[in-house]
Amino acid sequence: MKTELLQKDILKKATRREWLEESGVRMGFHEIHKGDLTLRLAGVWGFCYGVLYAIEAVDRALNDFKDRKIYVLGDLIHNPHVNEQLQKRGARFINLEEIETVEPDAVVVVPAFGTRRDIFKKIRERRLLQIDTTCPEVRTVEEEVTRFQEEGFTAVIHGKFEHQESIATSSFAERYLIIRNKDEAGWICEFIRGRKSPADFKTRFSRAASNGFDPEVDLKRVGMANQTTMLMNESLEIFDMFRQAILARDGHTENFRAMKTICSATQDRQDAVARLSKDGGIDLLIDVGGHASSNTRNLAITAHQNGGMPVYHIESAAAFSRSAMTFLPIDSSTVDTRYGWLPEGPVSVGLTAGASTPHSELELVIQKLLGFYAVSSPSLVG
Ligand code: SF4
Repeated sequence: MKTELLQKDILKKATRREWLEESGVRMGFHEIHKGDLTLRLAGVWGFCYGVLYAIEAVDRALNDFKDRKIYVLGDLIHNPHVNEQLQKRGARFINLEEIETVEPDAVVVVPAFGTRRDIFKKIRERRLLQIDTTCPEVRTVEEEVTRFQEEGFTAVIHGKFEHQESIATSSFAERYLIIRNKDEAGWICEFIRGRKSPADFKTRFSRAASNGFDPEVDLKRVGMANQTTMLMNESLEIFDMFRQAILARDGHTENFRAMKTICSATQDRQDAVARLSKDGGIDLLIDVGGHASSNTRNLAITAHQNGGMPVYHIESAAAFSRSAMTFLPIDSSTVDTRYGWLPEGPVSVGLTAGASTPHSELELVIQKLLGFYAVSSPSLVG
């Protein structure tokens, strides 16, 4: 028990100094040592201000509207444990289409990802009590997409068409296309250069484009933005690919615009894990956060790209034992298990956590790792 308290105290020390109470950002570079184990925390990790605000809003709604039903549109955040806890306290998570059936006196919470424009309209029409926790960074994407629309540009978003945020932000444009990665961007750029057919476009991008999208007309003027949680370097490369393709087609870039809309929280966490992976002398890295969390997944990719060491994206401390680790590989959508993941002898483990990961999840991971090592008096350096 004493050791547990000591370990808790160490984590608090490791984070307290830079813990910005209001924004939820933890900054700094810290190490925890115990026996052969060295833990190195990324300089910035865990909850962002947008996620904290969304959770606090639901928490307050549950306290303040005890006599009403509280509905959340989709997931509140991409962390299954946090969503489960709120559900246990009475929050009901519903599909967007279920907005039609909620009771007139219900409270509807729009998550940090935002929601579709037609759903906002329905909430207004039905005069439901709305708590809108759309993150200001997501609002920026909505505004950019709206501006592109008003100025006659088709919105092309670097994002995932099935992701809650991109579903929401793309709905602010009548014409849009969502590009997942460089491979898809390369295909579209080939189309712009006249080397692909509209029929092939439909086969490949029908789920990622607005209804009635005509690539021959709608790719003439392109305005680009990102889902807030994408990989910055990939987004910039994709922007450049489009710029070059339009330049090659038109002889100028007047029909191209781009606005970098990756959020600062995502960027800070990616930069921090890149630094840790490059300079931290770590043997492996554990990235804690929901498997559906785009920003957590991109932290794993960033770490691997910068350090080349094994990276384990896990949702919680339950994912590993001393001998086995169950994780989401960076190039797969299904979990895998690796035995012997933690080498014998001295080992340095890097740690980070996504913007939707509570402080307590990383704390549990640290406690479990410390528990594998014999020396019971860890020391903090940092
Ligand atoms: S990750 Fe960025 S966009 Fe998403 S809630 Fe946090 S601050 Fe907002």
